[in-house]
Amino acid sequence: MEKVAEGKTKIIYSMPDLEKVTLKFKDDITAFDGKKHDLIKDKGVINAAITTKLFRYLEKEGVSTHLVDLPQPGVMVARNLKMIPLEVVCRNIAAGHILERLPGFKKGDSFPKPIVEFFLKNDSLHDPILNDDHIQVLALANKREIAEMKRLALKTNEFLKPYLLKKEMILADFKLEFGRDSKGKIIVGDELDCDSMRLWDIKTGEILDKDVYRQGAPLEKVTETYLKCYRKIVGGEPK
Ligand code: 5GP
Repeated sequence: MEKVAEGKTKIIYSMPDLEKVTLKFKDDITAFDGKKHDLIKDKGVINAAITTKLFRYLEKEGVSTHLVDLPQPGVMVARNLKMIPLEVVCRNIAAGHILERLPGFKKGDSFPKPIVEFFLKNDSLHDPILNDDHIQVLALANKREIAEMKRLALKTNEFLKPYLLKKEMILADFKLEFGRDSKGKIIVGDELDCDSMRLWDIKTGEILDKDVYRQGAPLEKVTETYLKCYRKIVGGEPK
């Protein structure tokens, strides 16, 4: 297998079947556009397993994802999509960057309806927020594709919120990335795990996601948080 690309948290390898790729989830953890960087034991195995569990669930509910298989811990076989360089964020509860933009809401306030936002994947520009016109002018997606990404983000939210609530977690917000398959269909790609969701323990309010790292907790605490998230979503201990 040949390495075709490497990001902050995953390495992509080509496969003999060109319709597929292998994704190796790394133990690297980063924040603040990659300026903060550490390694968390078993993070790759944990996030690949959580993503697989949630993507399988989404597939059952009719949301297409790139997941094909998880042949070994931390290694996913996925459909080879042409990725769109956008981060599509869906928010149920005010937290994170939206607090700097939206007056009248404080951390923990519920929004009257879920909010979907688009950001350009570009660390040097600090992932700026984009509206539909920006996305079309940059030729990243057309009007129909933008509507489809929004529909799929909201549908994902609709399924995921009650699913995680049953596991005693509140889904404050999450980020999806999309790609096009060989027929041009918009499909959920990338990952959905403790790096890309804000999850709060319903009973204690404890943070169960990457925010513990962003907030500067010791790495042992970050490791414990990822393990807790794994136990709640996947069950058992990572192998
Ligand atoms: P915020 O815009 O408040 O920073 O993030 C909103 C949601 O999107 C959070 O759940 C956060 O984890 C996720 N998110 C935003 N940017 C990124 C990113 O660059 N990488 C990952 N993995 N998740 C992100």
